[in-house]
Amino acid sequence: MVSRLASRHFSRTAVASSDVRPTSLDVFTEEEQMLRESVRRFAEDVVAPKVREMDENEMMDPEIIKALFEQGLMGIETSADHGGSESSFTSAIIVIEELARVDPSVSVMCDVHNTLVNTVIRTHGTQEQKDKWLPLLAQTTLGSFCLSEPASGSDAFALQTRAKKDGDHWILNGTKMWITNSYEADIFLIFANVDPSKGYKGITCFLATKDMGIKIAKKEQKLGIRASSTCSLAFDDLRIPAENIIGGEGKGYKIAIEILNEGRIGIAAQMLGLAQGAFDKAVPYTFQRSQFGKPVGTFQGLAFQQAQAAVELEAARLLTYNAARRKEEGRDFVREAAIAKYAASQVAQRVSGAAIEWTGGIGFTRETGIEKYWRDSKIGAIYEGTSNIQLQTIAKFIQKQYS
Ligand SMILES: Cc1cc2nc3c(=O)[nH]c(=O)nc-3n(C[C@H](O)[C@H](O)[C@H](O)COP(=O)(O)OP(=O)(O)OC[C@H]3O[C@@H](n4cnc5c(N)ncnc54)[C@H](O)[C@@H]3O)c2cc1C
Repeated sequence: MVSRLASRHFSRTAVASSDVRPTSLDVFTEEEQMLRESVRRFAEDVVAPKVREMDENEMMDPEIIKALFEQGLMGIETSADHGGSESSFTSAIIVIEELARVDPSVSVMCDVHNTLVNTVIRTHGTQEQKDKWLPLLAQTTLGSFCLSEPASGSDAFALQTRAKKDGDHWILNGTKMWITNSYEADIFLIFANVDPSKGYKGITCFLATKDMGIKIAKKEQKLGIRASSTCSLAFDDLRIPAENIIGGEGKGYKIAIEILNEGRIGIAAQMLGLAQGAFDKAVPYTFQRSQFGKPVGTFQGLAFQQAQAAVELEAARLLTYNAARRKEEGRDFVREAAIAKYAASQVAQRVSGAAIEWTGGIGFTRETGIEKYWRDSKIGAIYEGTSNIQLQTIAKFIQKQYS
């Protein structure tokens, strides 16, 4: 198992200015490579033994959450001053990919916490807010990002949750739906409209803690990523101190758009890791299993399918790390992030589906965990912008360029 100290060591030096800039998208710095290896070991040693039980129970094991904090994986980009690993965005993407290779549920928990919750506070919080909340989020306390509602999914900014000022507090009323991590979380970023007459310009981001009175209305039972909690939340006169507004009144729209654009690279990484995990589990079996006197993996019909999957995995990897490097280097990345998320989620569905077929009947049982990758892959085309919404983004770039 990786020690926290060791993981901090990689992170501090990752993508340091003295580093030689990687020249290819599949070349990683030594520090990034070490991080990948250590997270892979952690995922295989600590997470893998619990995957099936967590999936069957539809519940995240609290020991896994604790271990992620201990490993320094819950404050990947958070500064060392705030108890984090002070690492790069690409490092976060590597962590998300490697966790998903073993369990996409653990991966999305880490992804939402790092790329959405921590990033909003890191980039839009005041100094006081960062000093107060980032150490908790890096070391002990799980976070949730609450945007979607029953009537506003793809059209997220039509949200109905309202906030009214009451002295030095705001009173929130409304319902959020599909909120990842919310069963275990104690810190919630909630988007609510303070002035519906201004439309999306009234949307504001509030930070609340569970003890302020957040109620879990329903925990969803899902097809996949079943260990990752997804709940509806009810706010019934939820009182939040005015000092907990993040980024200022009316700035919630800008924050959410910005954060979801980069968050999509995290989902691309989750889907990439998932596809790689299914491939790595299924392919060895095809060389152990013989039919007609030969390992089934040596029949051209199967070997070519595996070669096709390898091509798709490589493409998804290059697209994902291209978007990540662009984001990290401060270049435009919105188009590339949408392309990466769209492509990686498709690759995840195809490769995990094929992996079941390559392993025959055994792959169809819950024993191998291969069918779980396929169940888990479906969510990639839905959250943080459905596939149609990614295509809409890509199409806008085409129109801008050609019309
Ligand atoms: C497991 C899970 C976890 C989630 N976690 C979170 C979370 O942590 N926080 C959070 O805020 N939200 C979360 N979500 C919500 C998620 O982001 C939404 O489900 C997603 O944005 C889609 O919204 P919807 O489900 O309402 O579908 P809808 O928006 O109703 O879409 C239904 C269909 O219509 C299509 N469609 C919609 N608009 C258009 C259009 N303009 N053009 C073409 N097609 C269109 C969609 O592509 C889709 O196929 C989560 C969802 C799930 C299932």
